[in-house]
Amino acid sequence: MTDLREAFLRHLAPTSQQPLLLNIVSARDIFLFDASGKAYVDLISGISVSHLGHGNPAVLAAINQQLQQHLHVMVYGEYLLAPQVRYAMRLAALLPRSLQTVYFTNSGSEAVEGAMKLAKRFTGRTEIVSFYRCYHGSTQGALSILGDESLRNAFRPLIPGCHLLPYNDISGLEHIGPQTAAVFVEPVQAEAGVIAGTESFLQALRRRCTQTGALLVFDECQTGMGRTGHLFCFQRYEIVPDVLILAKALGGGLPLGAFVSGYEQMQTLSVRPALGHITTFGGHPLSCAAGLAALEFLLNNRLIEEVKAKSQFFVSQLNHPLIREVRAEGLLMAVDLGDETICRRAVQACLEQGLAVDWFLFAPHCIRLAPPLTITGEQIAEVCRRMLTALHAVQSG
Ligand code: PMP
Repeated sequence: MTDLREAFLRHLAPTSQQPLLLNIVSARDIFLFDASGKAYVDLISGISVSHLGHGNPAVLAAINQQLQQHLHVMVYGEYLLAPQVRYAMRLAALLPRSLQTVYFTNSGSEAVEGAMKLAKRFTGRTEIVSFYRCYHGSTQGALSILGDESLRNAFRPLIPGCHLLPYNDISGLEHIGPQTAAVFVEPVQAEAGVIAGTESFLQALRRRCTQTGALLVFDECQTGMGRTGHLFCFQRYEIVPDVLILAKALGGGLPLGAFVSGYEQMQTLSVRPALGHITTFGGHPLSCAAGLAALEFLLNNRLIEEVKAKSQFFVSQLNHPLIREVRAEGLLMAVDLGDETICRRAVQACLEQGLAVDWFLFAPHCIRLAPPLTITGEQIAEVCRRMLTALHAVQSG
């Protein structure tokens, strides 16, 4: 048989020159297993996707059941597909009255694209504001509002009228004005290395958007579905965005994104022009069935209520001379080592210890920790013990 590694390198388009190349053949609970049988604790959840771990029986049963009914039957938005309707209704029941209409997409990036179009269409304005070091996806609209020049410079020209402001700086908000269609913000900037928006900043942003008529768009691709200790992170700030973007854990391990807004706002994508946003696979029945089952499991097992204590336990255990700081927003955590080379070596040492970790797009000096929310206290203790062993090896090596 062709060597899988060679075939991967030859036939799959690369995204970097240094892929991790773990050969994962199965996954259960919080563990990934490679071809040699070695187990890795999944501490990144496929980048904040597998919040229930792997192979959750309730999610698998929902997928199986939908599998027997049908797979794809029609492009999004034409047929009454029960899995989509049920999931949208459930989300609406958990959301404030101004966020009741869901547009399901394939991915987070597509949801961002849809939200950008919705904002332009609803407000009749063209300018979009976002924040330095934000990440909203890799498509050209999402790249246009990305907060890092190095990732997007090579792809110019991008969408005009996109402006970056400093995060957590209230004085910058005066640049949001009558020409601003929308302001995109992550309540916690994940890829910047887990930098939380302050309450005063996000509340001032809400006020400024209301004042100027710009739509406030919360990108909760990483922070949504319980990751930070609330079902949606915006709930913690006691403000409500005009548009909510979800993805990652939304599909219970299958691809699914969504932008959620008010009924009135969402009608604008259906007229002048009709079909203002079209997607073939968005809201795939299998993804919606899996996502709904995952959400019910999350709520029925009160997993979100345990997030804060689990997060605090991680922080209390991670003491080492190489660690400058651990920034934790629930189970979205950055172990700041202050140095990129040390961090790369630490990630490698963690892998050797059977811990699957990673770094962040804009914080290569920090180890990313975003384990399944199902991780137990005992497992956290063991993970931290192994991480400290890995850091000792880096320090002495
Ligand atoms: N927004 C945020 C905050 C994200 O973290 C991501 C993915 N890392 C995206 C948008 C894009 O999602 P996707 O990769 O599904 O397109």
